[in-house]
Amino acid sequence: MAKAETKPGKEREKGKEERKEGNKEPEAAKGLSIKKDEEFGEWFSQLIIKAELIEYTDVSGCYVFRPNSYFIWEQVQQYMNKRFQPLGVKNCYFPLFIPEHLLLKEQKHVEGFVPEVAWVTHSGKTPLKERLAVRPTSETIMYETYKKWIRSHRDLPLLLNQWNNVVRWEFKNPVPFIRSREFLWQEGHTAHASREDALSEVFTILNIYEDTYRECYAVAGIKGQKTEAEKFPGAEMTTTFEVFVPSGKSLQGCTSHLLGQNFAKAFDITFTDEKEQQQYIWQNSWGFSTRTIGATIMMHSDDKGVVFTPRIAPTQVAIVPILFEKVRDEILKKANELKDELKQAGLRVVLDDRNHTPGSKFYEWELKGVPFRIELGPRDLEKQECVVVRRDTGKKESLKLKDVKKRLPALMEQMHQDLFAKSQEVQKKESVHVKNFVDLKKGVEERKLIFADWCGHAECEQRITNETPAKILCLPFQDNDPAQGTTPTTGDCSVCGKKGLVVALVARSY
Ligand SMILES: [Zn+2]
Repeated sequence: MAKAETKPGKEREKGKEERKEGNKEPEAAKGLSIKKDEEFGEWFSQLIIKAELIEYTDVSGCYVFRPNSYFIWEQVQQYMNKRFQPLGVKNCYFPLFIPEHLLLKEQKHVEGFVPEVAWVTHSGKTPLKERLAVRPTSETIMYETYKKWIRSHRDLPLLLNQWNNVVRWEFKNPVPFIRSREFLWQEGHTAHASREDALSEVFTILNIYEDTYRECYAVAGIKGQKTEAEKFPGAEMTTTFEVFVPSGKSLQGCTSHLLGQNFAKAFDITFTDEKEQQQYIWQNSWGFSTRTIGATIMMHSDDKGVVFTPRIAPTQVAIVPILFEKVRDEILKKANELKDELKQAGLRVVLDDRNHTPGSKFYEWELKGVPFRIELGPRDLEKQECVVVRRDTGKKESLKLKDVKKRLPALMEQMHQDLFAKSQEVQKKESVHVKNFVDLKKGVEERKLIFADWCGHAECEQRITNETPAKILCLPFQDNDPAQGTTPTTGDCSVCGKKGLVVALVARSY
């Protein structure tokens, strides 16, 4: 307890230092002082403060999402809502507080979550009759209600989703976006008449999650099934999307669970089937959180600052006029026309006409992850041209002013595709397939993404956890397709040397 209590202050101090440093220069940013491939963790902390994505607070592990990061979350919400809607999933909202007796109803669920639950115990100075949990996840409060709503097979499927916040009071080292005590997410909770329907939805959702990573974040990953030891407390099966980032660690990107009938039995949720028989319902829950924003930042950003794909970038284009006295008015006029034209075309564009040097403005927009910068100077103006600079590659292209509107969307699309290919490349480059425990340990030491043949026994999984800083992340689906199931192997178990059963994915993780 005492150890954890020291954390908020320390973390806060770190935030202050960053700010002090940032305030020295009026042009906000001289870039970052730490390199990504030298001190990844420090680089990430500096980056998210300087790029104005996150602010620290006096509560350790609880962060401010500044407009630049909240905007991205809104883009993701829009994309997902569009994907959920055709499935018949509807959005709703359940209370933040869960009475203790409900949280305690499903035994495994309780064991998994109670250590991290924050409790409300008093109203003013008066103790409450029953403690209220601040939701760590909403299964229990939702299912108590589902019981009232579900009577017959005609009430199924019941497909609900919430966009909300949850609190998990962990004492592990907090990392903004990645591991925080309060985070934002969507949690889907569905009820079905058959296991088959439920299972099919688990995979449909997992595929939508993968699409979200690809379409919104330009990030690739690996879909798989969690082991018994790693599955969601109370679930029959947990599927996951694992993202391997350049720090040499993997990030559990989101999860989609088959809850089976565990909660249905604990909450006594039954329906009358078509043959007038009483049956327990089959349930799923699935969640995708703001840690996913951290995944795209970690994947694509560099020593100059953040790199966002144009699809989610709060600002897609920054026009920086190169102002010289003689032609100042003329350049500004053209820059404004260009801004209006691009705005009308639906692009998120700013015109930076502040009185700073062009160089300091370039640094700032690079730091903040604006995908394209347009430079407009006297010589460009003479030729009715401008220079377009792409953030991730630094590649420059001279364009006729009249062509910018038409050309930019294609450049943006190209950038998105290139970023996605790059994230696939990171994953491929860092992957190794190991045959024995020596190589497995070596792979962990080298911070690789390890494919290891496994016998399926918990002892071998435990040995990985005990003897290395890594764990089995998941059992990857064959060809990354959930419908094909996990990947069988004929090789020997890389831990015990006995007959292998399945391929396991092993790495350090957040
Ligand atoms: Zn084994």
